[in-house]
Amino acid sequence: MPRFPIDLISDTSTRPSAGMLQAMASAETGDEQRGEDPTTLALCERMADMLGMEAAIFLPSGTMCNQISFLVHCRPGDEILAAENAHIVRSEGAGASALAGAQIRGIPTPSGIFTADDAAAHLNRKRDRAPVSRLISVEQTSNSGGGAIWPLKTLQKLVTLKKERDLILHMDGARLFNATTASGIAPTDMCQGFDSVWVDLSKGLGCPVGAVLAGSKDFIARAWVWKHRLGGAMRQSGVIAAAGLYALDHNIDRLSQDHKYAHLLARLLVEAPGVRVYPEVPETNILFLDITDSGQDTAQMAEALATHGVRLNAEGKTLFRAVTHLDLSEAQIQQAAKAIIAALTP
Ligand SMILES: *Cc1c(COP(=O)(O)O)cnc(C)c1O
Repeated sequence: MPRFPIDLISDTSTRPSAGMLQAMASAETGDEQRGEDPTTLALCERMADMLGMEAAIFLPSGTMCNQISFLVHCRPGDEILAAENAHIVRSEGAGASALAGAQIRGIPTPSGIFTADDAAAHLNRKRDRAPVSRLISVEQTSNSGGGAIWPLKTLQKLVTLKKERDLILHMDGARLFNATTASGIAPTDMCQGFDSVWVDLSKGLGCPVGAVLAGSKDFIARAWVWKHRLGGAMRQSGVIAAAGLYALDHNIDRLSQDHKYAHLLARLLVEAPGVRVYPEVPETNILFLDITDSGQDTAQMAEALATHGVRLNAEGKTLFRAVTHLDLSEAQIQQAAKAIIAALTP
């Protein structure tokens, strides 16, 4: 029995299902570093097709997808534009500057979404002493924005801006399929005009490990060089790639269930005293709980919740994040809401 049967800390906290484990156990394998693992090759081809890209590469994590993209696209002294609350700004060890030598300019936006006009206003004029505005990074869905979805129109306008200003457009698509499932927009349409896109397998798709980065053939060939350099090349990776293929077959459409549960949790808590829920109607699977009005802090509340087997992600002294995923049931969401309400008024 896990210590936190109702673990809302992240959609990474899922365990591989019996069906997924079976697919992994029967995977055909070879040497991935030599391009000889058939299951990994199949996963990459399938993901490239789904995203409308020429090619793809299997990597251990989403963070490595972002960092390899910056290493390929950017040169030292370049500037990357991203939302100031983006994962690449807050949670990747300043990798863009530490590895690629590129600095990130954060665009202020609580939702994590900005328009092409916002981006244009943050581009540098060409001057010898100005950083070279090189790349715009979009996080679909926006994690800090409570799983907010970038509208297709906004993405298309960014593609236009990219062409006008000779920029590179990158999508951190950790939760891209949450966005496509919730909006009904095809992944190929959402990624149209982007130079690089990746999807995390270890979030809502329920795999134990892995992410797939896609782009042009030339981009992927250059990404392979960095994959070797950074130690990301693998051997019989078909064992984990098989989980990815299984997830593409079984775990995309069901993301709507996660969204339903996030809705339900928000609805059960929105009227509760001592907590402010946002977004009040989550677009996908992430919501935030601000407990300032309860007079408690997240450490106190985490202790009370632990006695009910419930865990939330403490984002600060008075802010929790809750993320729904495939290892939760409706009854557990009800239980979680009850436990949270009880803990708010000890
Ligand atoms: C989780 C996440 C990442 C990093 O992915 P890992 O697979 O954990 O390295 C990057 N961007 C966003 C938006 C994420 O949610």
